[in-house]
Amino acid sequence: MHRLLRRQLKKINYTKGDVLEKDFKIFLDLVEKAYRDDDEDREFLEHTLEVSSKEMHDLYEELEKKSRSKLAQSEARFRALAKHDTLTGISNRFSLEEELSRLISTSRRTKTQFALLFLDLDHFKNINDSLGHDFGDKLLKEVVNRVAPKLRKEDIFARLGGDEFVIVLTNIDETKLSIILEKIISLFRKHWEVDGHVLNISTSIGVVLYPKDGNEASELLKNADIAMYRAKELGRDKFSFFTQELNERIAYEIQLEEDMFHALKRAEFELHFQPKIEALSGKIVGAEALIRWNHPKFGFLLPHQFIELAEDHGYIIKIGEWVLSEANRVIKSINALNLSNEMHIAVNVSLKQLQVSEFYNIVQRALVGIKPSQLIIEITESVMAEDIDFALHLLQKIQKLGVKISMDDFGTGYSSLAYLTKLPIDSIKIDKSFVDEIPKDESNKKILIDTIIAMANTLDKCVIAEGVEHPYQRKYLQKKGCNYFQGYLFSKPIDEQNYMELLMKESL
Ligand code: C2E
Ligand code: CA
Ligand code: CA
Repeated sequence: MHRLLRRQLKKINYTKGDVLEKDFKIFLDLVEKAYRDDDEDREFLEHTLEVSSKEMHDLYEELEKKSRSKLAQSEARFRALAKHDTLTGISNRFSLEEELSRLISTSRRTKTQFALLFLDLDHFKNINDSLGHDFGDKLLKEVVNRVAPKLRKEDIFARLGGDEFVIVLTNIDETKLSIILEKIISLFRKHWEVDGHVLNISTSIGVVLYPKDGNEASELLKNADIAMYRAKELGRDKFSFFTQELNERIAYEIQLEEDMFHALKRAEFELHFQPKIEALSGKIVGAEALIRWNHPKFGFLLPHQFIELAEDHGYIIKIGEWVLSEANRVIKSINALNLSNEMHIAVNVSLKQLQVSEFYNIVQRALVGIKPSQLIIEITESVMAEDIDFALHLLQKIQKLGVKISMDDFGTGYSSLAYLTKLPIDSIKIDKSFVDEIPKDESNKKILIDTIIAMANTLDKCVIAEGVEHPYQRKYLQKKGCNYFQGYLFSKPIDEQNYMELLMKESL
């Protein structure tokens, strides 16, 4: 065996832990065989190449990775050369661009308009994840089988990749277009049968018109993509036309996203504080920290204008870390006031932050120099919808540090007792929408909030009501056994200086 091995080894361009690209495959096969079959071969190989078993292992892994990405590269090159999408046989991105350019020149000459539809299947990733890629591929083929026969031969049908398709309807007016759009949407709504699985899928479609929405292939595709996102936003299973306002809004979001990158460094965020009042004493026991963004161009932005964006683009991790360190700083300055009561600050934490294990260390750092009980973490119920085990574990560890955990917006989401008993929750915050239901008159009608408070009391959880705006709401909540209030009735969120002054005034 040695001899054969030696001969093969000679053919390979091996120098000090590296192998020429063209020999990857042979080398990998050779190593694999030697290691599988024969200890002697293995020793021989390691000896000749002057590597340890560990080094050989690493080398093998590295080369394997390289050869895999090499394969991917050449596949991409191959795809670019081929005119057709290898999976479905319809046009691919490259030929679409060609065909579009041709169509644009003729339409310009003949002064006709055409429509370009950008389709993206809804929740296709879930299907791929749960039923596998092969299954996903079959479904994509089915899509083509179902849609293609409905198109005219002068239309274009292309797959851009993944679950994105483009349909170009030539020579079309608006009335005909809406009929066809409805038809395509409902084509998807009929159930799908693939490999014995019956599925419901749907598609979101963005629509642009030539020449109104763009003069070039790339512009039309870009704008159709924007319109498609709008359709997703509107709840999927819909089509949406591109408009200039939509374009401006997206441009605004892109601008915000770019600015967000610098916002922390430029100290543009600030925390405001909304006092939390104890029901029995009517005294302030702490505050909720609410973030604001002092944007240099757009002015003072509230969380609903940027938090989602921050979550989508990953900035929320750094922003959330800043919020916690600010909370720590402010708690320390409140402690320096030497008030008679210990004050806490509650911080809102988004699901994204709980998905990063580093969050634990971030919380730990936020506890330096304060009592852990002075920090409260507010999480929303939706946190629990995803990845409950990971979040659960992290929250338990954080609770062990002595930090209190509060469930925000209670009653609006996935809620329910099951979560409450499973999760390390110290208090629940009843959502404003339930507080709004409290009747003005003293009618005895039972409302949902009664049940929520009773339930929380049974489970020994502290109850906070948020969005309390009127005295009759406070009275009602107090009667039912709610422990704390927050809302405009007592104070709006105020900046740090005003909050400190309020605390000092109260302690006089
Ligand atoms: P939330 O945690 O439910 O915060 C309560 C929101 O209700 C705040 O809005 C507050 O200003 C408002 N509010 C309080 N009392 C009343 C009232 O009596 N009437 C009315 N109409 N509104 C009241 P805000 O400051 O715009 O914050 C909105 C949301 O943004 C918060 O909802 C929270 O989910 C999120 N948020 C705020 N700061 C942060 C943060 O630092 N990190 C993260 N991840 N989210 C944050
Ligand atoms: Ca909150
Ligand atoms: Ca809330």
